[in-house]
Amino acid sequence: MSPARLIDLRSDTVTAPTEAMRAAMARAEVGDDVYGEDPTVRALEERVAELLGHEAALFAPTGSMANVLAVRTVVGVGQEVLCESSAHIARAELGAHAAYTGLTMRTWTHPRGQVDLPAIQGLFAPDMGPFFVPTAAVAVECTHNFAGGAVLPIDDLRALRAWADEVGVAVHLDGARLWNAHVATGTPLDAYGAVADVLAVCLSKGLGAPVGSLVVGSAAAIEESRVWRKRMGGGMRQVGVLAAAGLHALDHHVERLADDHAHARLLAEACGIDPAGVDTNIVVVPHDDAPGVVARAREAGVLISAVGPRTLRLVTHLGVDRHAVDRAVAALAPLLG
Ligand SMILES: *Cc1c(COP(=O)(O)O)cnc(C)c1O
Repeated sequence: MSPARLIDLRSDTVTAPTEAMRAAMARAEVGDDVYGEDPTVRALEERVAELLGHEAALFAPTGSMANVLAVRTVVGVGQEVLCESSAHIARAELGAHAAYTGLTMRTWTHPRGQVDLPAIQGLFAPDMGPFFVPTAAVAVECTHNFAGGAVLPIDDLRALRAWADEVGVAVHLDGARLWNAHVATGTPLDAYGAVADVLAVCLSKGLGAPVGSLVVGSAAAIEESRVWRKRMGGGMRQVGVLAAAGLHALDHHVERLADDHAHARLLAEACGIDPAGVDTNIVVVPHDDAPGVVARAREAGVLISAVGPRTLRLVTHLGVDRHAVDRAVAALAPLLG
């Protein structure tokens, strides 16, 4: 089967910009963003800050860089951030937070990546002088990638926020797919914004932009992140062409995420998974021979990924319409159903 005919469910990062998005990119007004002179980047930063109810935002090339920049505004050298053990910041950023910021992490474990407040309270270390690593922040991920796109309920996030205020630690929200949580639950984006001191959000996942993420927070945090972004080599120039893709995605690709969620539930059913456990656009399927199923699915015309020796992952996105989902269901059901 030719690659073009393959249905790609490996990730929502595989989307290519639509014709309309490419047209918006071609029209973008640009300037040198290191001088703060790219009007399209500024418009995107202002829009995202406002959507999340924060003072400011900063365009970054990747979600990983946005997470590093965000976390380092609230955690210093020799301090720790607490997170869930399969969090993207712990598992999938190649130790960037340790390498660049010099922080350490301790983790709690939850099969759905949820906030476990008693566990977090048990891990929390106040500043006790030069003896123990002090906890500076708690990081949460919504939706939670490796927990299968699980949504963190807003009430749990509010309880975390209230406790964090009591003990004086910051909250970072890795919102690479916060848009999916917003659409799945109807929780306003600024309600998620209100539980966090800093956030990272991605345009390059389900929103379908080719590149781009943002750090969101206070004016001071963003000013500091702007310096560190440049220091890390992430000062970009006429990057309004990419910001235009992000603005287009915010206009046209947020509400449609509901389709991806419906498609994910159809795929779950075909794979023998209870669709009620699929919150958003990611389906996790346990299987004794994950690499073998990946190979057989490919022969049947569907690309899926193994995220562990016994874990398959299927992700829906705007490049996979209902017709393609029906074809994928027909191909995967005999392998997994
Ligand atoms: C994809 C992702 C990121 C950032 O990934 P990049 O590939 O660096 O853009 C961060 N957090 C989560 C939860 C993700 O899924």
